[in-house]
Amino acid sequence: MSLRELTIHEAHRLLRQGEISSVELTQALLDRILAVDNEVKAYLCLMPESALEEAQQADAAIAAARREGRLQELHPLTGIPLAIKDIICVQGVPTTCGSRILEEFIPPFEATAVEKLWAARAVLLGKTNCDEFAMGSSTENSAYFATRNPWDLTRVPGGSSGGSAAAVAADECLGALGSDTGGSVRQPASLCGVVGLKPTYGRVSRYGLVAFASSLDQIGVLAKDVADAALLLGAIAGYDWRDSTSVDVPVPDYVAALDGEVRGLRVGVPREYFIEGMQPAVERAVRAAIEHLAGLGAEIVEVSLPHTEYALPVYYLIAPAEASANLARYDGVKYGYRVADAVDLDDATRRTRQLGFGAEVKRRIMLGTYALSAGYYDAYYLRAQRVRTLIKRDFDEAFARVEVIACPTSPTTAFRLGEKVDDPLQMYLSDVFTLSMNLAGICGISIPCGFDEEGLPVGLQIMGPAFGEEAVLRAAYAYERSTEWHKRRPPL
Ligand code: GLN
Repeated sequence: MSLRELTIHEAHRLLRQGEISSVELTQALLDRILAVDNEVKAYLCLMPESALEEAQQADAAIAAARREGRLQELHPLTGIPLAIKDIICVQGVPTTCGSRILEEFIPPFEATAVEKLWAARAVLLGKTNCDEFAMGSSTENSAYFATRNPWDLTRVPGGSSGGSAAAVAADECLGALGSDTGGSVRQPASLCGVVGLKPTYGRVSRYGLVAFASSLDQIGVLAKDVADAALLLGAIAGYDWRDSTSVDVPVPDYVAALDGEVRGLRVGVPREYFIEGMQPAVERAVRAAIEHLAGLGAEIVEVSLPHTEYALPVYYLIAPAEASANLARYDGVKYGYRVADAVDLDDATRRTRQLGFGAEVKRRIMLGTYALSAGYYDAYYLRAQRVRTLIKRDFDEAFARVEVIACPTSPTTAFRLGEKVDDPLQMYLSDVFTLSMNLAGICGISIPCGFDEEGLPVGLQIMGPAFGEEAVLRAAYAYERSTEWHKRRPPL
């Protein structure tokens, strides 16, 4: 097996045993990026020099640990090359959010999740492409270029964390951070055949994650297998005083939850998640995966989430409303791009936003501003918040009966580039199965569970209650270790 194909836990073992160095590993990934990223286009910004320097420092730290007999204390991410979605701030490194308006923005501070990766001495390869301000499901809304699906370069990788998912799938990094506001970690993970975990709202600090919809945003992880997702989550989770919505509950040892045991675990299957119009191959693969869990000893229980059909309209009121408020800060004064020839302040703001934002972002700002405007606030925003509570209650009731819920991640496999760009509603429908989780603030994972007739990956979504990451990871791991789907590689 080549170095670039290693999982994080495999690479960690080899680093610890002194069989490979982080510099070799990092160089192998950089070579891979040079070889395939012209086609995949996962990275917006590559940092080869600093990555090799960080790898050298990691090697020195490993050597010191070996000398001093502290190897067992070595952090599992030490010397591991990772990628970061370009909506998460890395101090001193351009952070564009896939937008022209932040083309020149270099954050003067570090996101907490990134700070934690540095503390573990991880290696940062670069920043990955995404839909502008994470608004999208295909990464085609990036102002720079579209990322392609490594399984079929004529198809989208999903979005908005499409660059991170594609980079993991194409062996262009060992793992990556993404963000999930309505499915942006899980849906691209599903379409690219990798593992994507969205933690509970409040589990990972949002400090340094550029805000899209603040009550829904959460940093998540993309990985080659469930064990790596557990490792990455453990590294970035935890309370942070700089994010007032981060929750002060202890971070469990997520890796310890991976015991491969699901006997007696109650797995709910929501009847509302198998809908007309979904791709038959997706339904087949997901139903087979649920059967497989039953075969492992899980108890399958039918549950109902009756307000599921409202998730999409509710999300597309609340998310744009919050986005319109969050994006008001891009006025051509405080951050990034500003038109050069403005005649006055008003002209500067208006034309900066006109040229700086892309079509989807403008659409959301208009939808959100409308939903929040006097006279419409009660009818739209307030009502959406009430229905959001009903959606959350559906989950509370279901999780009183079952430990986890299994369903599809996305109604289809990867669609073609250009297929949905001119039809926002079709694009929005790509997230029907993922949005509810963000509205309810709960956690979930997408793992590979099969392929369609054209060889495109299908994802199984396993949801858990708030702070139920251990149960989700346990179920996902039990499935994964008794199947082979996650081991397939795209024919790049
Ligand atoms: N696709 C959804 C949207 O466009 C979700 C995006 C996300 O999770 N960031 O809003």
